[in-house]
Amino acid sequence: MNSPHKIGFVSLGCPKATSDSEQIITRLRAEGYDIVPQYDQADAVIINTCGFIDSAVQESMQTIDEALHENGRVIVTGCLGAKAEQVAEEFPDLLAITGPHATEDVMQAVHQALPPQHDPFMDLVPKQGVRLTPRHYAYLKISEGCNHRCSFCIIPQFRGDLVSRPIDDVMQEAQNLVNAGVRELLVISQDTSAYGVDVKYQTHFWQGQPLQTRFVELARALGQFGVWVRLHYVYPYPHVDQVIPLMAEGLVLPYLDIPFQHASPKILKAMKRPGSQEKVLERIQNWREQCPDLVIRSTFIVGFPGETEEDFQMLLDFLSQARLDRVGCFMYSPVEGAPANDLPDPVDEDTKQDRYDRFMRHQQAISREKLQQRIGQSLQVLVEEPFENGWVGRSYADAPDIDGLVYIQTQQTLQPGQFVDVAIQHSDEYDLYGEIDE
Ligand code: SF4
Repeated sequence: MNSPHKIGFVSLGCPKATSDSEQIITRLRAEGYDIVPQYDQADAVIINTCGFIDSAVQESMQTIDEALHENGRVIVTGCLGAKAEQVAEEFPDLLAITGPHATEDVMQAVHQALPPQHDPFMDLVPKQGVRLTPRHYAYLKISEGCNHRCSFCIIPQFRGDLVSRPIDDVMQEAQNLVNAGVRELLVISQDTSAYGVDVKYQTHFWQGQPLQTRFVELARALGQFGVWVRLHYVYPYPHVDQVIPLMAEGLVLPYLDIPFQHASPKILKAMKRPGSQEKVLERIQNWREQCPDLVIRSTFIVGFPGETEEDFQMLLDFLSQARLDRVGCFMYSPVEGAPANDLPDPVDEDTKQDRYDRFMRHQQAISREKLQQRIGQSLQVLVEEPFENGWVGRSYADAPDIDGLVYIQTQQTLQPGQFVDVAIQHSDEYDLYGEIDE
């Protein structure tokens, strides 16, 4: 029998890209292709690229260049594929370029380059598919695309309008993942709270029970699995309020990843984002009253065109009042094709950098204070991996890769994916430190 074709796979970008990569790798493994970790062992290389901001484009281009030098047979997919002409101009020898979420196109390119050697045996692949994440957590993608048109973003241009997956499919995937040992499901999409809008909240049946394709119904249904369920990329619609009681009940983690992007009404309007600062603060207060453990993660953009010192100050004031737990900040950078590029009054680079630094200092102080309040508490922690004096893990307040960690000092041998209670003894700006709470 011929030895299987070998594919090198590089996955860049956000969790949504990771989820696309998982689907492609699942198909490759199902069809008998081997995945190898070195360029020089591979018969061809697939690169799933990111094109969200300039630095991501640069990283993607460098990776393509490297793969072409080291291997020579390269298929490009992902967000950068939306700029196919530009990529082809720079790298005319690529085998194929496809856009994001294009598993079929990638497989076609693979078949052309390396024809399949035998029929697929789907049962060679585990039911939950092939995952790039550790065994104990998994991303669960519930939809593609987005109906919004935020002026700084080109995602809808290449991922299209919202397309929700049928809720019974999503539930089946979640069930398979939980059966395979996943302890944390991370719900992702471009716009999680819009789930089902495109299909008019169509009803499907899951294990004999009717279920509407709707954000809150999905959150409740996932909560029945008894694992951690974490909601990412929740657009601040009013109906988000309905998920807070589920958090208070313990059905889903009291963790809300909700990008506010700014606090100045003028800038939010220019971004084509909703929001009045007072209303948002009122809602946050209301959420916290209903669910005191709630942790809120958000992202912001500083240096957006037209942002004055007064607008920026409004943002700092908002941070002081909202006291968000986890905050990411980006300096605005124009993305080719984004409507915001045409806005007047760009902010100069020095001012952007200065505002970014001030923003980070401001939020760091808040974050440090908030984490100090954890000292003396006992937190349930999902163990990740060993580190020098023990193990490192995450509490409900920490999503993988983007939030902080809990360092557990212990001589005990723990297992990745195990839950332990940790008595918190120290903290800094981002992380917590403690010992096992016996
Ligand atoms: S909500 Fe806005 S930023 Fe997010 S994907 Fe849609 S258009 Fe882009």
